Amino acid sequence: MSEDFYDILGVSRDASEDEIEEAYREAVRKYHPDVSDDPDAEEKFKKAKKAKEVLTDEEKRRQYDQMGHERFSEAEKRGGVGGGSRQGGDPFGGGGGFNDVQDIFDQFFGGGGGGRSRNRPQSGQDLKTTLEIDLETAYHGADKELTVNRPEACDECDGRGHPPGTDSRACPRCDGQGQVTQVQQTAFGRMQQRSTCRRCGGEGTLYEETCSTCRGDGVVRNEASLQVEIPPGIRDGQTLRMDGEGAPGDRGARNGDLLVEISVTDHPDFERNGDDLKTRQPISFPQAVFGDTIEVETLDGPVEFDLEAGTQSGETFRLKGKGMPRLRRRGQGDLYVQVQVVTPDSLNEEQREALEEFAEAGGEDVEVDRGFFDRLKNSF
Ligand SMILES: [Zn+2]
Ligand SMILES: [Zn+2]
Repeated sequence: MSEDFYDILGVSRDASEDEIEEAYREAVRKYHPDVSDDPDAEEKFKKAKKAKEVLTDEEKRRQYDQMGHERFSEAEKRGGVGGGSRQGGDPFGGGGGFNDVQDIFDQFFGGGGGGRSRNRPQSGQDLKTTLEIDLETAYHGADKELTVNRPEACDECDGRGHPPGTDSRACPRCDGQGQVTQVQQTAFGRMQQRSTCRRCGGEGTLYEETCSTCRGDGVVRNEASLQVEIPPGIRDGQTLRMDGEGAPGDRGARNGDLLVEISVTDHPDFERNGDDLKTRQPISFPQAVFGDTIEVETLDGPVEFDLEAGTQSGETFRLKGKGMPRLRRRGQGDLYVQVQVVTPDSLNEEQREALEEFAEAGGEDVEVDRGFFDRLKNSF
């Protein structure tokens, strides 16, 4: 097969733009990989596409004719070709960049050759969901399973909405344009409004058969099970983005993303403030007076802490680096421990006497409600 663009399309060197378009359309019908069983179909299809692109661009065609195939191809590789406007030169163009074979195929059979203003395939929408985790999970990080009910491309028809090879025709309502123009008489005069064609959903094409699984939408709802990687240190309200896990794109366009908002439930023992944590630690009166080595719970297990003699109830101590991990950084916040001296609400006889003596020794005159202790005694 000759590499020459005119030969590829089978047209003469003085062929009109219409003839070139027609020849290209013919090549698409013959060589589109979806319809051809020619093993070289894809290669031929690409060549035809390239030839059409160059020969329907006035400026590029002039350069091609001047340079010949070889020199033109080399110049193009170096980026020294072009300048011609694609607008108008390419009746299928919505701005160039037809790299997607399926895209141009749909445009052809859909647009009937006149899809100047066809809607470009839209990327899928981002979807949002919430994932609830506890503080321990936020501390350690985890791989969590997340189940989402989301739209996915229909397997049966590959997201096209119709079985492969279905006969199709241009949508009569929009004339294959995918869009309709409505003219309205308003106080300001005639207003034109363009909107997506409802009959063909903007595709410009009607198919003889619809996929029975998705009823032509190309999309089905599916329960998907995903693994979400929760990084240590994540905070309540932060969002994780899962690339491409959102709604499917239109006709092969990219999927949207899935945004997972993290909700961290309250912890009974720890309060979070940024990367710091706060907790309360009960201690006894003698511990507060004499000091002691106590065990303090952290989210990473208990640690020992030396309580000084003469600690006041309500005093707060800082355990450095025992707070939450810093998200995607080194280090951890701090843990603030507020001690609370627990006042006993019941005493045995011995304790009562000792405490009374303690008060007397300090010169305190404490009026002890005997009835309270008698009641206590009788209950044992
Ligand atoms: Zn239509
Ligand atoms: Zn389907």
